[in-house]
Amino acid sequence: MSDTKILLAESDIPTHWYNVVADMPNRPAPPLGPDGNPVGPDALAAIFPMALIEQEMASERWIPIPDPVREAWKMYRPSPMFRAHRLEAALGTPAKIYYKYEGVSPAGSHKVNTAIAQAYYNAQAGIKRLSTETGAGQWGCSLALAGQMFGIEVRVYMVKVSYGQKPYRRSMMQTWGAEVFASPTNMTESGRKILAEDADSQGSLGIAISEAVEEAATRADTNYALGSVLNHVCLHQTVIGLEAKRQFEKIGEYPDMVFACCGGGSNFAGTAFPFVADKAAGKNVRLVAAEPTSCPTLTKGHYAYDFGDAVGLTPLMLMYTLGHDFMPPGIHAGGLRYHGDSPLVSQLYHEGIIEAVAVPQVATFEAGVQFARTEGIIPAPESCHAIRACVDEALRCKETGEPKVLFFNLSGHGHFDMASYDKYFSGHLEDYAYPEHEIEAALHRLPKVAMPA
Ligand SMILES: *Cc1c(COP(=O)(O)O)cnc(C)c1O
Repeated sequence: MSDTKILLAESDIPTHWYNVVADMPNRPAPPLGPDGNPVGPDALAAIFPMALIEQEMASERWIPIPDPVREAWKMYRPSPMFRAHRLEAALGTPAKIYYKYEGVSPAGSHKVNTAIAQAYYNAQAGIKRLSTETGAGQWGCSLALAGQMFGIEVRVYMVKVSYGQKPYRRSMMQTWGAEVFASPTNMTESGRKILAEDADSQGSLGIAISEAVEEAATRADTNYALGSVLNHVCLHQTVIGLEAKRQFEKIGEYPDMVFACCGGGSNFAGTAFPFVADKAAGKNVRLVAAEPTSCPTLTKGHYAYDFGDAVGLTPLMLMYTLGHDFMPPGIHAGGLRYHGDSPLVSQLYHEGIIEAVAVPQVATFEAGVQFARTEGIIPAPESCHAIRACVDEALRCKETGEPKVLFFNLSGHGHFDMASYDKYFSGHLEDYAYPEHEIEAALHRLPKVAMPA
């Protein structure tokens, strides 16, 4: 039997990130300001360091990874790739299934990859503090850890309802030295405004973003950090796909299909973009983003300019969106509850270079449990979406007898999501109907902006 683990040496950690913009048929559409004109670097300089703003707008194919970032990554990178021998046997499929495991990072997901890069560039720029928001806590934990590594204070606005529901994610952030506040707080203008209207507000990601951005915009020593969506975040995550390609090279394989779950899009981008380069060079590889049927941004959204946050503070981005004030149902994959999607992922989908599937919640847990019982690792509810999509393809291969090579990214472990597994086991997990009317209504409230020619 072939090896189960495909491992790389620390010296194999990539030296450059891959920028997919270089291989896109069309230039990315620029973000727009409130006046409808493209946003220049200066408008972003109040909250991001220049090095990240440059990456946000870069078009060269390869961007060097600073040595201190590669050194910090050595704590858990290169991440392992596995051949899912036991899952294949349980499914009885002729397909070969491979997965890369990003849950080996100390915070338990891929988000640490960009947290380390962002903390590094901010430290280089003399920034002393980073403010950010977190929902379920994966991103807050990642930035707390990275801040600790580069001597930056981290302040996290955690959505109040999660602050109560996910106490251990909060204590992890505090263990790594971050200050965590239940948002809305009375420390910011935005928070006070919400509390004046509703003293019992449970908060939302949109409100937490407003508080974190406000803090960064009003303090010279403080910047803001975002865990997904933006081009520089997608760029940092390409370390996943670049390592995976080396791992495939090592065993003389190449995937027919690549799967990753997609919330804001950085996990999918990081996994799939390095394969876009091969596709542009004529290789036949299918790249599939897996999203929840209850928050079906790519498969049911509109391709339009919209705000990145619920309140409407960010520049307008051209992306697939369900409407910035669409409130997705409370599924357990909190990291996939986002109304929009990375502009780069959106444009590649619009141009037919990548594909997307939507999968219902109960079926994702069913796949996650089958995975845990065969491969051992308990997956994050987000990652279960990629597993579902990959298992469905493996079952199709069983029908057709095709020995396809399938690859997915296991973006994180589910050790802090066991309450969600409990709900699945007790039969209390529901499949939300596709929220057609809410989405329709939210799409009517899209800002009116002319599409680029
Ligand atoms: C946040 C998160 C995701 C979604 O990431 P995006 O890059 O925003 O698509 C996926 N898996 C895990 C484990 C996460 O924590």
